[in-house]
Amino acid sequence: MNRHRAFYIGRFQPYHLGHHSVIQKIAKEVDEIVIGIGSAQKSHTLEDPFTAGERVMMISRSLEELDTTYYVIPIMDVDRHAIWVSHIRSLTPPFDVVYSNNPLVIDLFSEAGVKIKKSPLFQRGAYSGTEIRRRMLNDEKWEDLVPKAVVKVIEEIDGVQRLKKLSKTDSPG
Ligand code: NAD
Repeated sequence: MNRHRAFYIGRFQPYHLGHHSVIQKIAKEVDEIVIGIGSAQKSHTLEDPFTAGERVMMISRSLEELDTTYYVIPIMDVDRHAIWVSHIRSLTPPFDVVYSNNPLVIDLFSEAGVKIKKSPLFQRGAYSGTEIRRRMLNDEKWEDLVPKAVVKVIEEIDGVQRLKKLSKTDSPG
């Protein structure tokens, strides 16, 4: 019997409890989850501080407790949106449904004829990469917005220090 597989993509800068809640929900609806790490080529900027490998660690360790099969695949951006879906297909296990809330992601997959399920938003104000990075830079509490495994990864790579150094060298925008 064919396995029912879903695709979920994000930048995960960093992976937070909003993403985690979506993945927990998807896990109840399909057999396997393919997680794409978008903008895999980016790191060491204020908007995209963490490398693809660091984001693989954050996600894989957070999902250890989850009883589901998942694949974490880094995916570099391509400069033509029109070929993005084929680019993803060429790198990932086959999937038959995409979960997303990102309008461009939804448009590109819909045009390619892929079934879309809109993923629910959980506490968008706090569970947001932008808000977590802002708190890190301002010495505010961010740890309760991400899975415990992500706190450990960010400590291991000295992520907050990296962000603070970047704020001195990388102009926002
Ligand atoms: P993100 O990490 O901001 O979000 C990932 C997903 O999680 C989205 O569906 C988002 O709506 C959802 N989410 C965020 N906060 C949530 C919360 N609190 N509760 C529930 N869900 C929440 O990443 P993103 O920006 O959506 O990632 C899209 C990726 O696709 C980017 O890396 C982008 O560059 C890439 N992309 C590339 C191309 C191209 O290369 N041509 C085209 C389109 C998209």
